[in-house]
Amino acid sequence: MRLLLTLVLLILGNYTVVAYGNPAVVADDDINTVTATPADTQWMLEAVALSGQSIEAGGGPFGAIVVSKEGKVIGRGYNRVAIDHDPTAHGEVTAIRDAAKNTNAFDLEGAALYTSTYPCPMCFSAAHWANIGHIYYANTAADVSPEFDDAALWHKIQVLNAEGTSQCTTGLTSVPGAHAEAKRVFDQWVAQVRSGAVQHYNPSDLSKF
Ligand SMILES: [Zn+2]
Repeated sequence: MRLLLTLVLLILGNYTVVAYGNPAVVADDDINTVTATPADTQWMLEAVALSGQSIEAGGGPFGAIVVSKEGKVIGRGYNRVAIDHDPTAHGEVTAIRDAAKNTNAFDLEGAALYTSTYPCPMCFSAAHWANIGHIYYANTAADVSPEFDDAALWHKIQVLNAEGTSQCTTGLTSVPGAHAEAKRVFDQWVAQVRSGAVQHYNPSDLSKF
């Protein structure tokens, strides 16, 4: 009986992780052995500053930079989805495009991506295809949910991943030193949209993305 109960709990436990687990936990448990340094916090604050600039420009509250392995900023970007009517113009994609253009290379090997918020699956994939070795984030997925909720997408990927063995080695690391500032900028944007003061976004848009 005890064995049966243990088995049921084990199966239930595994199912719970697959169905409801935070993707950050999965990624961190699997491959993350990197801890953010004070230098990472400085880079992240640049990405967070871009998230603030995005708000001023009428974009979504997300910014990102790409830093080369030599420690130079080679790409900057912020969310331009509403500005350009481009659903793929997330901050990370915009920064990666800028880095590739500036370096005349589609292979950004050794570069790191600093994004003000945990990346969605599209941006995580874009970083993978750009051969970016590591992604740093400040705001968590929970911080920007439900206004921007990609849990369903991550869930789908987790289920698919659970059925096979992933060869993806792109790492993910949070930067706690920049979290308060990143969250402040994001919350400011939500408050502005709720008050109807933001170009391109209406209060009813907040749960659409
Ligand atoms: Zn994205």
